[in-house]
This record gives sequence, structure tokens and C-alpha cells, in this order.
Amino acid sequence: MDKRLARFESLGLGAATLAAVDEMGYQTPTPVQEQAIPAICDGRDVMAAAQTGTGKTAAFLLPVLDRLGHARRGTGPLMLVVTPTRELAQQIAEVARVVCAHTGHRATTVVGGLSYEPQKQALKRGCDLLVATPGRLIDLLEQGACSLAHVEVLVLDEADRMLDMGFLPDMRKIVRQTPAKRQTLLFSATLSDDVLKHTSSLVRDPARVEIAPKGTAAQTVTQYVLGVSAEAKKRTLVEVLRREGASRVIVFVRGKHRADHLCRILRKKGFSCAPIHGDRSQNQRMRALDQFGRGEVGVLVATDVLSRGIDIPEVSYVLNLDVPHDAEDYIHRIGRTGRAGELGWALTVCAPEEYWDLRDIERLMGRVIEAYPRAEGMDLGEDPLVLDSARDPREKLPSKKARKKASSGQRGSQPQRRSQPQRGARRRRRS
Ligand code: AMP
Repeated sequence: MDKRLARFESLGLGAATLAAVDEMGYQTPTPVQEQAIPAICDGRDVMAAAQTGTGKTAAFLLPVLDRLGHARRGTGPLMLVVTPTRELAQQIAEVARVVCAHTGHRATTVVGGLSYEPQKQALKRGCDLLVATPGRLIDLLEQGACSLAHVEVLVLDEADRMLDMGFLPDMRKIVRQTPAKRQTLLFSATLSDDVLKHTSSLVRDPARVEIAPKGTAAQTVTQYVLGVSAEAKKRTLVEVLRREGASRVIVFVRGKHRADHLCRILRKKGFSCAPIHGDRSQNQRMRALDQFGRGEVGVLVATDVLSRGIDIPEVSYVLNLDVPHDAEDYIHRIGRTGRAGELGWALTVCAPEEYWDLRDIERLMGRVIEAYPRAEGMDLGEDPLVLDSARDPREKLPSKKARKKASSGQRGSQPQRRSQPQRGARRRRRS
């Protein structure tokens, strides 16, 4: 036995899945794999709090496929993975393809945005593993094109995201159609009270695996913030890409139209880029990811569809051109770089209007984001946000209501408090 694989073998994996580990080139199990694989091999239910990028896909696919039987022709699935987005489903299917090539299992994927007929045909032929997004799976169940009566292992992936996206009723419907006697593995970025409230009844005496406590940003990602005025953002985007390079960069923005608009601007300036958001078809998204992976597209301009769970190796840096409203989306966004031990960095560009969103993020992480050190000579606009470097990440922040009231009273102004943003205090101009 290759010494390298011995650590995976000691977790309980057999020869076929070890060969898959070998093919994927993993050297050592990640913490979530180390904790989850033995429990899954023992047949226990698992509730795991693990962020994307922690190796959670292999943490459930390897031990289950190691032991899973084979469905008779025209039946199955025996293992069902439900995941919130098409990209996540494709990514899981990709890892499954490698593992199944060694274990001899048949895997099928059903996601929205693609035509029904090929998916129905595949289900008719039968499969051992089905990877699905909730909406399409429900459609196929309602059309009688799929049965979950033989499911032995149910994986609910990114459960918190599914709840956020309003999939709770769909999740419940799906779970009801699986046999009561099954193994259930639940993965979620966080195991918040809300997630536990809605999902505890789905698992039985689960082994709890907690890898990344709430708000822990990937340790390998260096984070910077740059205060600007809102009108300077487009210029800032172009300038940062010129200074830091425009290859393997993900730019996150709020809004689909904004993503399209920025792409048009970047193309005019000679950058190769592609938008990726919820209005793009499945094929368009896949093509963009593929071109990005091959280096034909240097910059992806994305909304938060892409912030969770998508495995894009070798992202050089993440640029948050808009601060996300949801602080946890920030953690997911910056998790796109610095994956599986690689070093990465992220820059967040923040206008005065986004100040409190930034503070929410810092409070969630319990730390202040450093000022971007290479801003010298950049045009930050007429009235840029200037951040107080002594701001306290543990400070209690005003409620959303109070913030709204303050900003409607006087456009852009903040309540008078020690930590208020200063506008234009140190105006920097292009030299
Ligand atoms: P995931 O959290 O499943 O999205 O995985 C994130 C990334 O980690 C993927 O690129 C995997 O290929 C990679 N990965 C998973 N397990 C390991 C491992 N044991 N060693 C190195 N990389 C891994």
C-alpha cells in the first residue's frame, strides 16, 4: 500500500475508493474527511458544519460509494444527493464520475435548466447514485419519472443554502418519499439554530462534525478593503485588474444586470471576461466556467450564485466590487481563493453606502479587514469612504431599521457614532 493512501485507508476506505483517492491526487485527508468518513463507514447519520473548500464532497462520496450496493436495471437510486444549485450538482457529479469509474456505480444528474427527456431516459435506465437540485427532482417525482423508494443513503448538501433559497418544502417532500430506514448525511456551512430547527428531525442520533465555526474565513486568504465612492467603482475595477493582473480573477457584484454591464465595460477595455448569474442558462454558465478553467476567460463577473460551493481551482484573487448584504456570503465569496491549502487573497471595494455591511462582516469574523496596501495613486472618487483603522469588530452595531432610518433622513449619512464612516476626509487623487 502506498504510504500516502494509508491515512485514507485507516479511515475505513477500501481498495476501489482508495484508487479513486489516488487518481484525484489527494495526499492527506482534510479535517472534515478525517471526522466524517469513519462515522459514515459505521453507518451513522452525520450532521456536518463544513464550509465549501473543505473537501466535503469527497467526505460523503468516498465512504458511501465504498459500501453501496448496485441497483437492478431500471431501478434506483440507492444514494441520493440533493444540492441547491446546478453548479454544485455538476461539481459533485464530476467527483462522483471519478469515484464511480473505480467502484463501478452508475451516476445520474438531474438539474433545472436542461431538457427533461435525457434526464427521464437516464432515470428509466436506472442508477445507483442520483445527484439532483430540489426543483427538478420534485418535477420528475411528480411526473412519475423517478422513485426514491430504494434510497439507502440521503445526502442533503448545503442545507443552510437550501433553506435560504426557500427549498424547505421541497426538501421535506423529497425526504418523505425516501424510506424511513435510511442513512442521512447533512452538510451545511453552518449549523445555526435555524438550520438545526428545520433539519434535526431528518437525522437520527447523528455524529456531529464541526470544522469551520460560524464566521471563520479561510485561514489561507489574506483580506483587504478599499474605501471608494460609489461612482469610482468601475474605474477601481479596471485599475485593480491592471495592477494585480486579470487572469483567474473572480469579481463579485450585486445584481445580474450589473454583472452584464461590467462585462461589457471590461471587454471594451480589452479584458477577456464572462458574466455568471442566475439569468444565464445552464449551458452558458458551464461554458463560462469551462473557459475560465482553461484560461481563455481571465475574469468571471459573478453574482452570489457562484459564491458557494463551486470548485474553481487556482483563482488568483477575488475582487468584491460590491459588499454582500449577507455577511456569510462574504465568507463564501473569499473561499473561492485559497482553496485546499493554496494561498489566496481577496479585496473588497466599499462605498460609504455599504459601510454597515462591511461592519457586519467584520463582526461575524471578529476581526477588522486590513486596508489595501497598493492603493497609492488610485482615483477613489469625489467622496470616498475612509475607514477608521481603530474600529472595533466586536462593537454592537445599529439595527437594520436604525440604519435605514438614518440613511433616509440624510442620504448617505450615518448616525453620529464613534465608528461612523468618514467621507472624503482624506481625498486621494490620481497622481
Ligand atoms: P469541496 O469542499 O468538496 O468543494 O472540495 C474543495 C476542493 O478540495 C476540491 O478541489 C477538492 O478536489 C479538494 N480536495 C478534497 N479533498 C482533498 C484532499 N484530501 N486533499 C487535497 N485536496 C482535496
